[in-house]
Amino acid sequence: MSKPDSNPPMLEVRGLSKHFPVERGFLRRSEDAVKAVDGVSFSVDAGTTLGLVGESGCGKTTLGRCILRVIEPTTGTILFRPEREAVDVLELDKKALRATRRFMQMVFQDPYASLDPRMTVLDIVGEPLRENGLAKDEALTARVAEVVKTVGLETKHLRRYPHAFSGGQRQRIGIARALAPNPQLVICDEAVSALDVSIQAQILNLLQDLQERFGLTYVFIAHDLAVVEYIADRVAVMYAGEIVELADTDELFRRPLHPYTAALLSAVPQPDPEAKVERIILSGEVADPANHPGGCRFHPRCPHAREICKTTPPVAEELSPGHSVSCHFADELTLKGVG
Ligand code: SF4
Repeated sequence: MSKPDSNPPMLEVRGLSKHFPVERGFLRRSEDAVKAVDGVSFSVDAGTTLGLVGESGCGKTTLGRCILRVIEPTTGTILFRPEREAVDVLELDKKALRATRRFMQMVFQDPYASLDPRMTVLDIVGEPLRENGLAKDEALTARVAEVVKTVGLETKHLRRYPHAFSGGQRQRIGIARALAPNPQLVICDEAVSALDVSIQAQILNLLQDLQERFGLTYVFIAHDLAVVEYIADRVAVMYAGEIVELADTDELFRRPLHPYTAALLSAVPQPDPEAKVERIILSGEVADPANHPGGCRFHPRCPHAREICKTTPPVAEELSPGHSVSCHFADELTLKGVG
């Protein structure tokens, strides 16, 4: 759960945007922009997990990559505290960014595509150590063997290639690669989506064990709310490049305040067959990021939309401690949660 206020967060994101220019016409003038991420703010306490959820195309993967500056954000501030002092990630020059990246790692969705088939486990897991000048020769092999064991693989497999492993084992290799340089923050981008349900549970348990052992901070990007409920301390719900609701996991699942969150929750399978939650089917598609609707971006799909929603964008408001929402009518709607 969240740490006391006296401890500053490990990660603070303020007003972060990523707009991709759209070039049109013979002269390829940039007239418009795809607003993949648009003015997003949140923080993550050290040793906790923030779940980032939303439909495909809502901007959550772009946001994860912006935090690591794999994609350069357009505007905003990213404060990261791997040590006592906060580092402003967007102000770092190339050299300083490389040094800081050691503390910020990523686990990718597809364990088949994210591992180079021509590299052995030793090469793959040792890569961030080599790149950051953290270890070489026997020291590098020893560190790789240590993390490989930590993630539940056998050290006798260090010279094997990815194709010799199952999907779950490959994801363990991906986690070992992220773990090798001793990071503080790990962005898990749909880290279990490509795996069978039984393997998903093993990988989620592994991630939780690693968090407890090493005090890791996670940003866990996923479209599956059941997975997020299991692993996250807090959840941010994204729609059309914006965070529309942010709360502790239990609170968000039991008392959603945004109609979009309620719709997502209504699709979560319930373990108790008696607990009937009526599925809310949203009409239409996710808003086009190159042409967001005016007012509330969710209004064309929202079952509770009124006139003001078409013209005036709602502003994020904290309606109870730690629970913020962007909806004109959040304090008067009665929405059904789960759990
Ligand atoms: Fe729906 Fe209006 Fe709230 Fe947007 S502001 S979520 S359209 S009720």
